[in-house]
Amino acid sequence: MHEMSIAVELLRELESLVETNDVKCVTEFTVSAGQLRGIVPEALDIAFASLAADTCAAGAKLILESVSTVAQCQQCQHRFSPGEDYYLCPKCNQADVEIIEGNDIILKSVVCE
Ligand SMILES: [Zn+2]
Repeated sequence: MHEMSIAVELLRELESLVETNDVKCVTEFTVSAGQLRGIVPEALDIAFASLAADTCAAGAKLILESVSTVAQCQQCQHRFSPGEDYYLCPKCNQADVEIIEGNDIILKSVVCE
């Protein structure tokens, strides 16, 4: 269950944020996650809630945002947003592309108290 390791990572970020910003607790936070990661929102919710139970982020609301995929052509370095199953560079027409976005999990914004 990779949602658990994601939750661990998120909680670590939130805790250091609370420390450095002189706030009491986190009430809400937004996570932007690439579509390709295939996160199950409910699983992440449950994992985070159980992990955060005794922390500054206990009961915080988790908002998950999906980020679409960005590909980069390995031939001409052109970046583009590929179609669902159309991974062809629009600039040089090579099918030599690599996914560079849509594969990350980022803590985007946090609401504190
Ligand atoms: Zn290209």
